[in-house]
Amino acid sequence: MIPFVDLRAAHAEVAEEVLQGFDRVLQNTAFVQGPDVAAFEEEFAAFSGVPYCVGAGNGTDAIEMALRACELPPGAGAVLPANTFVATAEAVVRAGLRPVLADCDDDHLLLDPGSAASAVGADTAAILPVHLYGQQAPMAAVHELAGRHGLTVVEDGAQSQGSEQAGRPPVGLAATSFYPGKNLGAYGEAGAVLTSSPGLARAVRLLTSHGSEVKYQHETLGFNSRLDTLQAVVLRAKLKRLAGWNEQRRAAADRYQELLSGIDGVRLPRAAPGNVHVWHLYVIRVPERDRVLAGLQEAGVQAQIHYPVPVHLQPAFRHLGHGPGDFPVTEKAAGEILSLPIHPHLSPEQQEQVAETLAKVLSQL
Ligand SMILES: *Cc1c(COP(=O)(O)O)cnc(C)c1O
Repeated sequence: MIPFVDLRAAHAEVAEEVLQGFDRVLQNTAFVQGPDVAAFEEEFAAFSGVPYCVGAGNGTDAIEMALRACELPPGAGAVLPANTFVATAEAVVRAGLRPVLADCDDDHLLLDPGSAASAVGADTAAILPVHLYGQQAPMAAVHELAGRHGLTVVEDGAQSQGSEQAGRPPVGLAATSFYPGKNLGAYGEAGAVLTSSPGLARAVRLLTSHGSEVKYQHETLGFNSRLDTLQAVVLRAKLKRLAGWNEQRRAAADRYQELLSGIDGVRLPRAAPGNVHVWHLYVIRVPERDRVLAGLQEAGVQAQIHYPVPVHLQPAFRHLGHGPGDFPVTEKAAGEILSLPIHPHLSPEQQEQVAETLAKVLSQL
């Protein structure tokens, strides 16, 4: 059996530190907004090279609160890729905005700036590039488009902690998720907003805590969506290993590249020029994907699909009025993509077994 992720192996590396940290929190009973939260926020901001980090209850809330902090006109359009986890679109709707979907590029399956440009309308106020699978969307092009139309940029960095992009504009406002399976994963729900603006940092912090900075004084309608102190303990311990773990993911991706490049019919993922990829997911494309997936799973290789149904074809977004054919690159990819197991603790032997199994399944189609 080759598991898709190995959270147990990651825990083994941090177990001692986490248990000591939990004990500290339990002794102090600082369960909400304890000192570990502020320390993690500082450490994650420094790691990300962004001045301010505000912890949140989860990544979806973090996106919504980042959008709300910008005080965009109610009902305004927000551009996002149809090829993303549903949470990006969900947060847009919950923030009182209208999702304006765009297609992805065929090479990297990231937001296509050309498609985004043609989706922008008179009432469009924001754009949410998603750093899907662990590499950043083309941020120079996104900022160029945003500058031309006065759009607010909110990055969805849920899958890209530690990624880099040469020559990109600095992060203005971004959200991330620490869902357990993410590159930096908590032991429950957690997320954060990163920003270079002290004003936006304060606005997001107000939102996380009932719109209140001073107890029982509520400046605005907010959330109860703070970063949990026990999760902050886990995240602090894991953050120290994140750069190394991302390096191990890159080594695993290189190894897949070697092992799979000889197999007929398989299209391999690549980092876009200038991108330092952190390989949250290793997404190949194959013919007859559903049969290949079934064959892999039968042989104990826990492959998955990210994501089988694009946002515009989800019943929850029927009101947007889209149908099949509206985002052809996304739709074609949705029928071909297959995520192979990738994580820092995947062994070369396991990868060889994945490659052998994949070659065998494909040869039997
Ligand atoms: C995981 C994820 C989210 C949502 O994060 P949660 O912490 O699960 O709410 C948003 N966008 C993308 C691209 C994600 O992968």
